[in-house]
Amino acid sequence: MKDDIHDYIESLLTPREGLLDEMEQYAAEHRVPIMEPVGIDTLLAVLKLQNPARLLEIGTAIGYSALRMTAAVPGLRVTTLERDEDRFEKANQYISRSGDQDRIHILFGDALELAEKAAEDGPFDAIFIDAAKGQYRRFFELYAPMLKQGGVIYSDNVLFKGYAAGVDAPTKRIEKMVRKITDYNQWLMAHPGYDTSIIPSGDGIAISIKRSEEK
Ligand code: SAM
Repeated sequence: MKDDIHDYIESLLTPREGLLDEMEQYAAEHRVPIMEPVGIDTLLAVLKLQNPARLLEIGTAIGYSALRMTAAVPGLRVTTLERDEDRFEKANQYISRSGDQDRIHILFGDALELAEKAAEDGPFDAIFIDAAKGQYRRFFELYAPMLKQGGVIYSDNVLFKGYAAGVDAPTKRIEKMVRKITDYNQWLMAHPGYDTSIIPSGDGIAISIKRSEEK
């Protein structure tokens, strides 16, 4: 999204208060990459329309998006995966303080090794992929079988600060990550089992709706 449009939308959002504000400040101070306000606002609006009962999140960080999602969608239960121990512990602390600990189950470990444990909480109405960008396709392929018919997979960062759309990447490392994201986007858009649209909000969110088998 163009900067001036993005800034305008952000200026209209109600500032977060209390625990969420504290988490945003913690994330900024400790350089924890949580979803940014405009992107999460869009994701929450779509989730409210979908009204999932169970959601799997890949990439908890400190639990910010998990808490925003349970606050936005009545009755939603979130299972969320995180491999960084400090973030996992911080997420547990914040979620206990929020009072939503019965609705958010955090599993510690590499998402590529947690499928069996995560499946115990499934099947899921929605999956939200927001972890290592180079692994999105592997996350998708591993967890998609746990998604119900008509379920939705949301993938964050698919425009990756505009680099995916051709903005020059500043380093070779970023260039490599961009290629992985653009490969993922092409694969995802062509996936015969899903109808996918990309929303240019925040860092770019792909919405992939699982087709029914009869089609
Ligand atoms: N969804 C969070 C939010 O908006 O509040 C932000 C998640 S942050 C962008 C990505 C997180 O995924 C990081 O905390 C990182 O440690 C975690 N992560 C990356 N690769 C992972 C993997 N393979 N398994 C589990 N966690 C992973």
